[in-house]
Formats: sequence, C-alpha cells, structure tokens
Amino acid sequence: MIRYSDIVNKNEREIVLLKASPCVWGKCTFCDYIEDNNSDTQFNVNFNKEILKNVTGKHKVLEVINSGSCFELPKETLQDIKNVIDSKGIKKLFFESHWIYRNRLEEMKQFFNIPIIFKCGIETFDSHFRCEVLKKGAVFSGPEEVSKYFNSICLMVGIKGQTKAMIETDIDYLLKYFKHGCINIYVENSTPFKRDEELISWFRDNYSFLEGNDNIEILWNNTDFGVGGN
Ligand code: SF4
Repeated sequence: MIRYSDIVNKNEREIVLLKASPCVWGKCTFCDYIEDNNSDTQFNVNFNKEILKNVTGKHKVLEVINSGSCFELPKETLQDIKNVIDSKGIKKLFFESHWIYRNRLEEMKQFFNIPIIFKCGIETFDSHFRCEVLKKGAVFSGPEEVSKYFNSICLMVGIKGQTKAMIETDIDYLLKYFKHGCINIYVENSTPFKRDEELISWFRDNYSFLEGNDNIEILWNNTDFGVGGN
C-alpha cells in the first residue's frame, strides 16, 4: 500500500494516506477500504508518524486521507500533522469528512488555524441511489444544504444502476454550488457492485472537459493520486 505521494499535475500538493479508527458510519455498500481502519490507536499513531516523515512542504499544501473522516484520526496524529504544518510552512490542508460531522468542522479549523478544504463524499444527489442503494448515511435536502457546510464534494460515477440523468444532475450541482470537486470513476472492489462500462464511456465522451477545470479532479482510477493500491 502506497501511503505518500506528490501530486504535481494539477492542484499541486503532497498527500498522505494515514490509518485511523473505524469509519464512524462504516455502512456504505460499495466501500471496502474501511478494511484499512484499525482500532489500535497506538499502532495508528506510530504508523502515521512514519508516513508523515515523508512530507516536505514543497507545495505548501497537504492532503490527509484515512479511509474515513479526519475526526477518526488519533488525537496524537492530529498534533503530529499540526507539527508538520508548522515546521514545513504548510498553508492549506485538505481533509475528508462524512456528512455526520458537518457540525464539527469548526473544531478542526480552530485547531489547525490554516484554511482547510473538507471533502465530503456525496457520491450522488439522487436520494434513493445514495441512501437506499449505496447506504451512504448522508441525508440532506439538496446541494444548497450541503454547500452550507462543505465547499468540496466527491461524486461517484459508473456504478451499475446509476443513470446518465443522475450524473448530469450531479455534475450540474457540482458546478453550480461547489468550489471544488473530485469525481471518482468506480473501480470494482470486493463488494458486489459492478462497473457500468457503457456509462463510464459516455461520461468520458461528455465530461472529460472537466479536467480543464482547475478545481475539479477526475480519478479515472482510484490510485490516480498515487496512494492506495495493495
Ligand atoms: S463513509 Fe467513506 S469510509 Fe466510511 S463506509 Fe462510507 S465510503 Fe467507506
């Protein structure tokens, strides 16, 4: 498993994939990366210290992901991240957060005292597909409500059962309501969900232009940020 990468093509930043306690939600039907979670806090702390040693601060921007939400990182790891931020002169941080933690984002902002972009996994604004099929556990009225808390969202594209209409709406909402977005093209994993190759091909034909948008990233493969894998 690769845990550190230097993203240089767009939105230059260093990224680390850390270990944290189990995802508080942990029920998304398409997710198997929670297998990277570990309940042994001291193990996670020591493990994360080693990964954080890779960060140089070369872009002054750091993204921290942990197969869950930043609130599940050990407190000592949060302090270690803060130490890296201070010692390497990092000016902006990217974190992930589930919708469940939407009222706690300010805690992190106050602790780190630098701008934080929180990425929230919405997957789709289609309520039935998100809540009943993907079991995302994120219930909200629509993009306006999400945008009150998060200025960056992650969308999923290419799971069998999704439709072109759903994806068109999702991209419209992303462009209209959010400053940043990450579009994950679904890659089959150990869950039963299958890729819809025809849908992905249609998306590629119609939405590849989004790669020209500085604030939108498309992960055609879930290791495109250079971390993850086996
Ligand atoms: S919230 Fe994220 S990490 Fe947790 S189960 Fe869902 S997709 Fe997986």
